[in-house]
Amino acid sequence: MSTAEKTEQTEFKFQAEIKQLLHLLSHSLYQNRDIAMRELVSNASDALDKMRHVALTDEEHRNDDELAIHIEPNKEDRILVIRDNGIGMTRDELVKNLGTIAHSGSLEYLNKAAADQKGDVSLIGQFGVGFYSAFMLADKVEVITRSYAEDAVWRWESEGTGQFTVDPAEEDSPRGTQIRLHLKEDMDEFTDEQRLKHILTTYSTFVPHKVYLGDEHVNDQPPIWVEPKSSLSDEQYQHFYQYLSHRSDEKPLWHLHLSADSPFQFHAILYCPPSNYELMGFGREEHGISMCAKRVLVQNDCRELLPEYLRFLYGLVDSADLPLNVSREALQDNTVFRKMQTVLVKRVLDHLAKIADSDDEQFMTFHKNFGPIIREGISMDFANRERIAKLLRFTSSHANDVEKPTSLTQYVERIKDGQQQIYFVSGPDLATIAQNPNLEIFAKKELEVFYLTDPVDEFVLSTLMRFDGKDLTSIDSADVEFPESEDAKDDDDKKSDDDKQDEELPSGFEPVLVLFREALGDRVEDVRKSNRLTNSPACLVNSKGTMSTQMQKIMQMSAGSGFEMSKLILEVNPRHPLLKRLGQLVSNASQTGFVKDCGCQLYSNARVLAGLGPDSEEMVSRVQSFMEELANSRSPIVT
Ligand code: ADP
Repeated sequence: MSTAEKTEQTEFKFQAEIKQLLHLLSHSLYQNRDIAMRELVSNASDALDKMRHVALTDEEHRNDDELAIHIEPNKEDRILVIRDNGIGMTRDELVKNLGTIAHSGSLEYLNKAAADQKGDVSLIGQFGVGFYSAFMLADKVEVITRSYAEDAVWRWESEGTGQFTVDPAEEDSPRGTQIRLHLKEDMDEFTDEQRLKHILTTYSTFVPHKVYLGDEHVNDQPPIWVEPKSSLSDEQYQHFYQYLSHRSDEKPLWHLHLSADSPFQFHAILYCPPSNYELMGFGREEHGISMCAKRVLVQNDCRELLPEYLRFLYGLVDSADLPLNVSREALQDNTVFRKMQTVLVKRVLDHLAKIADSDDEQFMTFHKNFGPIIREGISMDFANRERIAKLLRFTSSHANDVEKPTSLTQYVERIKDGQQQIYFVSGPDLATIAQNPNLEIFAKKELEVFYLTDPVDEFVLSTLMRFDGKDLTSIDSADVEFPESEDAKDDDDKKSDDDKQDEELPSGFEPVLVLFREALGDRVEDVRKSNRLTNSPACLVNSKGTMSTQMQKIMQMSAGSGFEMSKLILEVNPRHPLLKRLGQLVSNASQTGFVKDCGCQLYSNARVLAGLGPDSEEMVSRVQSFMEELANSRSPIVT
């Protein structure tokens, strides 16, 4: 019995979020009450896992008692008990675990579910509030518990309103926890054995501990991961997914069932969910893979088994070659564990490549949901870079349909003869990208360009650097090279681009560039003739070897003033009518000021088109004086 002092606090208020949660659970979200059973059994199972771990690592707590879960209905008093001989809770743990919410997004999600009228609470366990689903069934819940670490027995009680109490329990109790549900009036069915058996076989078949309903062992089926694939139905796979993911009524997008005997023995089932909660704003997915050794669960959310860029997968891995009683840290040094990581990643990536080849629709669903996570692998997993790169998809000038983006492989398949680079351009959206003057020459030469609207994609391609022997190059980079055969084709038209431009180069063009250089000073790296522009008068490009402009912009935004953008080169189109005219004016010394102003304004315009802010103050007064000059040269006389 407890020796708690009389003065110790016994009444507690729930954290505000829990009050709201409880209100939601009992008033709005009651469509699928069965999941409350699943959550309580799952909590009991977790407590048993923890106990087994304690016993493995601490001899003092080792004994032969079977770790099990007992479900005990009492029709007469309308009480349902879920009892385990797991780790139990101390008084402090009770107050903390059953009085606060650990995950901040949970309430938001449930509020939304209630507002949608869909009442989908099936995810409740995933958000770490499973226990409270007890109040969907009960108007009073008692938790009687004894921690493995002490002798005191505690009794938590609440009617699911604002507060709960924690007192020393009058009764003695063995180690573990029993949840006593005082069922609501219309919840009689939860004392019905048939009904309970149905729920338990639906949701708790795969619980890795024995579950008894009265005296009957209800989860006595062999684990499906050791069964041959051919003997399993879709439904069985689906049920196991629902058990692992706590996502009832959901079908996985795909599953992968692996078995091997050498170089080490293992069975694994991996699942890809049909949607990505991370993208919906629920923060990082936090689950991992369940890991078993000879069918005994060693860790139920082993995040180290798969790399972070595959963190969305659910699954279980069972190997006879894994040690049972090692810590998380020691596991990482285990050779079998490390080899297993390698094999699993390879098999998952192979599987994805297969889907990409054979099932467009499924792959696009996958890509939409998990593409943003998979691409992280480019910078994280050097060994599998090429494999991951093949799974990436982007919108491009040749496949402008965002629903059907292009792969790097497709790009290379239709690449022009002699083209040594894969081109990309980035911008905030497709409309802005379309305005980018740098694109003109690519359109003219019919060279494919990837359109990147997500800055992360640009980061990913810059990190990847090469694909299939071709350099990935931003079109605003001075490193851009055009395929030789293109020039050769122009040769067939008698002149190459350069010849054509040199030939047409107005005599005053060089002096104009000199004045532009003078006017812009060290605001630019250089001012030079452009070979890439056809319709626009000027554009900005990056000097060789520097990051693309968009990338630098992002760096500057994230690093603040600590990051200095490298200077850009202003490229000027000698064939543009404006430049031709300036070439004529330049011989007249009194026009020098005007030509210089035009240079500055072309620079400002190019900045705007490149998505960089203009030097507004200067630009506004310049445009204003242009307007004044124009106005003065116009006549008020109606002709
Ligand atoms: P979650 O299980 O996702 O953490 P819950 O709201 O279901 O969220 O449970 C909160 C916490 O209460 C658990 O993390 C666990 O520490 C504790 N708990 C719940 N049920 C039991 C149990 N049967 N035995 C021991 N601890 C439990």
